[in-house]
Amino acid sequence: MLQENASNSLFAFETLESNVRAYSRTFPVVFRKATGAILEDENGSEFIDFLSGAGVLNYGHNDSDFLNDAKKYLESGGIIHALDMATSAKREFMEYFDATILRPRDMTYKFQFPGPTGANAVEAAIKLARKATGRQTIISFTNGYHGVSLGALALTGNRYYRDAAGLPLVGAVFMPYDGYWGADHDTSKYLDRVLADASSGVDLPAAIIVETVQGEGGINTASRDWLQSIERLCRKNDLLLIVDDIQAGCGRTGCFFSFEFADLSPDMIVLSKSLSGCGLPLSLLLLKPETDVWQPGEHSGTFRGNNLALVTGTAALRKYWTNERLSDGVVETGHILSERLQQVAQNSADHNLSVRGRGMMVGLDCNTGKLAEKIVRRAFENGLVLERCGAEDHVVKLLPPLTIDGETLQRGLDILERSVHASV
Ligand code: PMP
Repeated sequence: MLQENASNSLFAFETLESNVRAYSRTFPVVFRKATGAILEDENGSEFIDFLSGAGVLNYGHNDSDFLNDAKKYLESGGIIHALDMATSAKREFMEYFDATILRPRDMTYKFQFPGPTGANAVEAAIKLARKATGRQTIISFTNGYHGVSLGALALTGNRYYRDAAGLPLVGAVFMPYDGYWGADHDTSKYLDRVLADASSGVDLPAAIIVETVQGEGGINTASRDWLQSIERLCRKNDLLLIVDDIQAGCGRTGCFFSFEFADLSPDMIVLSKSLSGCGLPLSLLLLKPETDVWQPGEHSGTFRGNNLALVTGTAALRKYWTNERLSDGVVETGHILSERLQQVAQNSADHNLSVRGRGMMVGLDCNTGKLAEKIVRRAFENGLVLERCGAEDHVVKLLPPLTIDGETLQRGLDILERSVHASV
């Protein structure tokens, strides 16, 4: 056993860790270190990271400024755990977020720190929407992904996850996302009709939850017009609008919030993933003051607002969100990414490949999961880490760190191009 253990660095994972493990199967090496857009395994092999912890590492791995602030905080005896007691780290984060993100955008929101995961924030949002309206149904969209705890899973479209629920998933009704019936069909009209028709079979909902770009669902992008129609329907029918910006937020599509391009004013916004800047778990529900109908402690949890994550989150705001540099860079690099990917698709022997996305959230639709899997496997063998998404896992998803340098980006795209050509 010892011998086997020595020759297979994944032995412990294969024998001790549950079958539920996933990414360690796609990337069968043991990672040890990381900086910026580069991951390193235990053998010293380097990989370019176009996965970014599924959107957690928008600023790359181990930003030294963030880590220095974390070190200083730890060395000063800064409090790490405080339930939801008032701490100086939380005050600084809220005041900084308000000053750098909310007020410049003329946004007034209150902060709720739920448990540390994205799904925790989604659960808080839908529970609050139900309480505030006295209604139960939440409208979600085809291919939506909002997490896998039972409330959030009810809003998640993919059967692979839903089938594992073990209980009926209740309280959600799915409507067609933008483009679901092709580009010429405005699916918001269907929703309008369903809401207006007292005999449609759909109870008047509490809220609509939407991703402006569906990250797990296949990099499907909602247009400005469609998003505005959804917001209008919320206002017309007195529904709350919840934007799930867990994956598309924190600058991924160009602006801090992914809905800024559509001028939305959501009643609630859920953020997580890149909020702490460096991968420490942190999630946040932003809610308009008038929706804040909670009683004290009514929605609870032991880990509400991880103080170290709040320190690094403040560092991220300070470094990247006091000017437009990062946002401008994302728009510019996003164009480079999409254009290069279009070329890869056009030059490919498979003429059905297509590209979509917004900012630095881009997907290569391979039509089949099999082809996308081949490409991702080849890319990994050649030193590039990326993942698949979409109903059939048929879309290769590119989420490089927003801070990636041009040379590393091109090297990653070169690997991807070779992997596509070798796979079709
Ligand atoms: N919403 C969206 C849009 C997500 O992308 C995710 C995670 N991929 C979640 C919710 C759930 O977040 P978590 O995995 O942290 O629970």
